[in-house]
Amino acid sequence: MLYLSKSKYCRLWQCPKMLWLDTYRPELHEANAADEARFTAGNEVGDLAMGLFGDYVEVTAKKEDGRLDLPEMIRRTEEEMKKGSPVICEASFSFGGLYCAVDLLKKENGGWAIYEVKSSTHPDSAVYRADVAYQKYVLEHCGMHVTGTYLVTIDSSYVYDGELRLDELFRVTDISDGVCEEMKNIEKNLRAAEQTLSGEEPQIDIGEHCRDPYECGYWGYCTRALPTPNVFGLYRVGFKTALKYYYDGVASFEALLAAGKIKGKTALRQIDFALNDWGTFADRDAIRAFLGTLSYPLYFLDFETMQLPVPKYVGSRPYQQIPFQYSLHYIEKEGGEVKHKEFLAESGPDPRRALAQRLCADIPKDVCVTAYNKGFECGRIKELAEAFPDLAEHLMNIEGNIKDLLTPFQSGWYYNRAMGGSFSIKSVLPALFPDDPELDYHNLEGVHNGSEAMEIFPRIEFMPPEEKESARRNLLKYCELDTLAMVKVWEKLNILTLN
Ligand code: SF4
Repeated sequence: MLYLSKSKYCRLWQCPKMLWLDTYRPELHEANAADEARFTAGNEVGDLAMGLFGDYVEVTAKKEDGRLDLPEMIRRTEEEMKKGSPVICEASFSFGGLYCAVDLLKKENGGWAIYEVKSSTHPDSAVYRADVAYQKYVLEHCGMHVTGTYLVTIDSSYVYDGELRLDELFRVTDISDGVCEEMKNIEKNLRAAEQTLSGEEPQIDIGEHCRDPYECGYWGYCTRALPTPNVFGLYRVGFKTALKYYYDGVASFEALLAAGKIKGKTALRQIDFALNDWGTFADRDAIRAFLGTLSYPLYFLDFETMQLPVPKYVGSRPYQQIPFQYSLHYIEKEGGEVKHKEFLAESGPDPRRALAQRLCADIPKDVCVTAYNKGFECGRIKELAEAFPDLAEHLMNIEGNIKDLLTPFQSGWYYNRAMGGSFSIKSVLPALFPDDPELDYHNLEGVHNGSEAMEIFPRIEFMPPEEKESARRNLLKYCELDTLAMVKVWEKLNILTLN
């Protein structure tokens, strides 16, 4: 018999090979930060949405080992339906090996409506329709009268004003037409699932389905036979274009060059340096001119931010970038000592005001500030200036004096093969300092990138004191390395232009 949950059905819908690998070779899956963030946001949003229609009952039940107790959830669902409960959360059903839990099952019009909750801000998507169609199929085969199918998503235009209004935060979309269309595919897909799970690993090539709707964690496994480097790591070659070259049999850099497919100067140089050991290219005059635009006192600034699906600070929107930390290295005069300041807010309360005040205290007006990919820092400072008009003049002065340390790399004035197709600080730093353990992000503890910082910071509030201290220490070390990296990069460019 075929045993399938709705998440497995959605995997089949995206790619049968993904379902097979998930079932028989899950150890090959590589988790990515986006998956984890979506999972965390999904849980928070799902819990909150339970109260969307007022009183509700939740039938989630767990076994001693922490796994869901599905038979018990099904039993409780039946019990609540008999009692006439108007809203049942995680209402569970099973039919012939097919299982599903409905986020919100609402009694209406002589039947029951399915409300599927997503932490996304997109009110519809093909995979959401497939997900809900599967639920409707299971419920109808359990003898239920399904009166409506709805998607509950986050309204990105919602602004928190101090009182959380679920009816404004959530947007409810009737997706019945799309679900009806998708219902026509269910039995065909179930037969495909049965065939997939009873056979050998499906021979499915990579394609757009590897990133749509979700980035697949088996990409590394499915592309293991590709030469490296290859077209999928080429600078500014979009995924669809890269796939086209791959299908045309020109995935390797040698083949791309021979076929004359790549026209972009930066991508051509990436290929050239990968195929030939040219060492380092540096346009010293251009770099010197750029460095000449910087002046003392010189500051190096980097923010860390979080994006909460459910806004909790007055005036903020869902998923707004909220800065909670910065690191600041600075040098007061030529040949002067490199000094450091930092700010890390308390996890829980709104961090923005304290951060903005400290920033104004730490960076005087009319000084030269550098950021790496300055659009991000400038954007956050402008938002802080809007939120705190009394600090706006100082903040906008800082913002107006920011220079971008990314410029020499993005403009192609400095390149070596270790940078590959990326000019992010995480790629540039090891390319410039390949053997320096002090500058290796891998040697940090707990926090190695912005996604991890974003995920850990809001959780600190609920950690026991010892864990809290260690998490804060890890955040400070991580952010400090970001601006130390900028100082080192700047120093390296200066040395280069002395010759
Ligand atoms: S990487 Fe692509 S082909 Fe491989 S399992 Fe994932 S979606 Fe399927």
